[in-house]
Amino acid sequence: MTDFLWFDPSEALMGGAWRSTEETLPLINPSDGSALARIARGRADEIDQAIAAAHAARDGAWGRMTALDRGRILTEIGRKVLERVEDLAVMEAHDVGKPLTQARADAVALGRYMEFYGGAADKLHGETIPYLDGYTVYTLREPHGVTGHIVPWNYPMQIIGRSVGAALAMGNACVLKPAEEACLTALAFARIAAEAGLPAGALNVVPGLGSEAGAALAGHAGVQHISFTGSVRTGALVQQAAGANVVPVTLELGGKSPQLVFNDADLDAALPFLVNAGIQNAGQTCSASSRILVQREIYINVRERMSEAYAALTVGPAMNDLRVGPLISHRQKDIVSGFLKQGSDLKIAAQGVLEGAPDTGAYVLPTLFDEVSPDHVLARNEIFGPVQVIIPFGTEEEAAEIANGTDYGLVASIWTSDGARQMRLAKQLKSGQVFINNYGAGGGVELPFGGIGKSGHGREKGFEALYGFSTLKTVAAYHG
Ligand code: NAD
Repeated sequence: MTDFLWFDPSEALMGGAWRSTEETLPLINPSDGSALARIARGRADEIDQAIAAAHAARDGAWGRMTALDRGRILTEIGRKVLERVEDLAVMEAHDVGKPLTQARADAVALGRYMEFYGGAADKLHGETIPYLDGYTVYTLREPHGVTGHIVPWNYPMQIIGRSVGAALAMGNACVLKPAEEACLTALAFARIAAEAGLPAGALNVVPGLGSEAGAALAGHAGVQHISFTGSVRTGALVQQAAGANVVPVTLELGGKSPQLVFNDADLDAALPFLVNAGIQNAGQTCSASSRILVQREIYINVRERMSEAYAALTVGPAMNDLRVGPLISHRQKDIVSGFLKQGSDLKIAAQGVLEGAPDTGAYVLPTLFDEVSPDHVLARNEIFGPVQVIIPFGTEEEAAEIANGTDYGLVASIWTSDGARQMRLAKQLKSGQVFINNYGAGGGVELPFGGIGKSGHGREKGFEALYGFSTLKTVAAYHG
């Protein structure tokens, strides 16, 4: 076993017991293509067991626990996660290929989500409603019951933090299906949660293939809510499967997020965000900013400054902690390379450089494309690699039209010192989040997040997520 693994990763967690599955799947280190571990290949049978265990937890100690005590356990999980940041970061760097500094930030965010939802667990109250004479009416916030969490490989810790954290805070029992490409930190998290006192069955983890464990979870009649993050194609399948059981879903499906840079922008402040939002986690970020819209008067200046920054982007193994690591897999490398080929009619403004990257790793060079038309295939599709296009615009109206011109709407940012323009555009942009003179607001555990259009629906993160992971009961008492 690899020295940073302090547990056997080939087991699934069902009702507090770690069990092996009939078959296992290989886990590959994308930095060099080496075999990392073998993980459980959960199927419908394991999903059945996990869901049964979750229901037992809801009917047992977990279901009876006060919100205050649930919150205390989540806070304790957060504390333990924060103690283990380095262990978790090294594990994630090997599993996802994420440069160590970025993996560390994810581990800190996981701890922070647990602290936030630990503190929030007893803060969501019902209401009393003035009604007819002789009645007292009030509402109760209740958990859905058993929630399913289908998580991708790009930010396992952050996505587990925001969805499982909020679901547990509201008293749901969770069944987590991590991605087959990267699931070590999900397994580590479940162990840490148990150490912190989370009762058996409140969190169950079944690794496996999307078409097997994922599909079984999405279509299971014993689940009362599904939270999915991943591709549009799979999201639509999950919604369809859950729909057959009339189960609500939250979908977070990525985007083609723009940054709008106006003549009066503070370019020194903007520049790090313009580049970093495109290349963080090698561009495999749902909220990656892959479109940079620049007003014509400053276009050449911005292009030159971004190009300089790109030329300094080093790409190599995650543990070398350079700016950019490998993609998650050779399959993802093929997808991104296919897009780069479709850009062969475009001018490349700049690219990054490989530094100690073995041929066996899944590397692509960060690539900045110049003067791209908003209709180009690279300006319309989510690439999920370190690729950005710069698109010139003339007026504010044109910028808004281009920004709103894709099927997505997850994140947008406006760089301008004109306060009225900031307010106008913040309203006009079709996007779940809008940032003014920043991008991402430092991660934003507290900030509701989610998309419109093909970026999905429902909100996670922040206090808002607690509404999504609970249901409302209205009680009307007639007492005369
Ligand atoms: P995917 O959507 O297929 O996988 C995401 C999760 O869904 C994984 O846990 C997977 O096992 C599961 N899954 C797959 N098929 C399923 C099914 N039929 N039912 C239930 N669950 C299922 O994504 P992918 O194939 O890993 O990546 C392909 C593309 O998706 C990427 O190139 C990228 O564009 C996009 N993507 C987006 C995000 C995001 O954060 N929005 C994350 C990962 C991938």
